[in-house]
Amino acid sequence: MIRPTVARVDVGAIKRNFRQIVEHLARERSAGPPGVIAVVKANAYGHGAAQVARALEDAGADLLACADIEEGAVLRTAGVRADILVFGALSVSDLDGLFDCRLTPTISTPGAARAVQAAAARYKQRLRFHLKIDTGMNRLGFRHDNLRRTLPELLASPNLELDAVYTHFATADDPESPLFNVQRLRFERALADIEALGARPRYRHSANSAALLRDSRVWWDRVRPGLLLYGIVPPPLAATLPLTPVITLGSRVVAVKGLRSGEAVGYGARFTAQDPRTIAIVPAGYADGLDLRLGDRGSVLIRGRRAPIVGAVSMDMLAADVTGLDASPGDEVVIIGSQGDDCIDVREMAATIGTIPYEILCRIGSRIERLYSEGG
Ligand SMILES: *Cc1c(COP(=O)(O)O)cnc(C)c1O
Repeated sequence: MIRPTVARVDVGAIKRNFRQIVEHLARERSAGPPGVIAVVKANAYGHGAAQVARALEDAGADLLACADIEEGAVLRTAGVRADILVFGALSVSDLDGLFDCRLTPTISTPGAARAVQAAAARYKQRLRFHLKIDTGMNRLGFRHDNLRRTLPELLASPNLELDAVYTHFATADDPESPLFNVQRLRFERALADIEALGARPRYRHSANSAALLRDSRVWWDRVRPGLLLYGIVPPPLAATLPLTPVITLGSRVVAVKGLRSGEAVGYGARFTAQDPRTIAIVPAGYADGLDLRLGDRGSVLIRGRRAPIVGAVSMDMLAADVTGLDASPGDEVVIIGSQGDDCIDVREMAATIGTIPYEILCRIGSRIERLYSEGG
């Protein structure tokens, strides 16, 4: 059994995108290019964590990152053998998964440091961790400006070994924001402080997709792309390496009907036909992640043409204006992707409703089946 609305995920494209990033790094810094931390949190940005992680491992990824211990456990269950870094705070987590699933924790607060040290002692292990420094995001991490006071206890933890130090940028995707450079310089000073405390991390990292594209000074020893792996450049930046979108979302027309002048369609009767129109009903709605705001703003592709979404998006369906397209039930509908000469990509859909590509991807509903292929 399969519904008409499906997401197709091209795992070949994930591998190509990963390799394009690796080649880009090698081209731009031939003497010792940084490694990659492939970010697969949030079910690999909605693409399916297990399949995406295995594809990345095939393509050569040796370190993946996820949001929490539970996501790490899903990756291990899927057979991932590469190292897995957990980004999230661990202060209120059940830490057994770190050991059962061989995950690398981020330590970003003194409380987490004590909890992870105690757990590692119970397991009689010496656990490698990444230390997160807060350089201005003001979310997680040790404050950049008093490390000499806050770090010695952590660095002296007998069962913990500092493997890497990292930070995260708040405004890497905003070329106008001065905070990016402020954070860059604070991170440099933090690294010097950490060295002065006698610690020798194996590596340092700070760059998400936008920072990777923007400034090779923040590449350090590893970069942490997420969105780029899925073939999407974070707006407003322009593509400087060739990437392929990985996911497409499609459906089929299930009904076609005529609207007479003055008749309305859908909840709230928000769209009223000014003249006779033909509409197609598509079985995909906000329960599938299609934002309510697409109503009367977005479009889908049917018969190679743009068909405007009319009226409110419902829970399980939407209506598209197919006047003049000679549409009939069974016709293919492209919600994200290309058809004929036209294309609606995730960046366009995000811009249409005033959000970011990340949110569009993560919201593609769990009831939508993902069909995986090696692509072409
Ligand atoms: C999500 C995340 C990334 C990846 O961000 P993109 O913008 O998708 O490249 C990198 N680092 C951290 C800490 C993250 O949480």
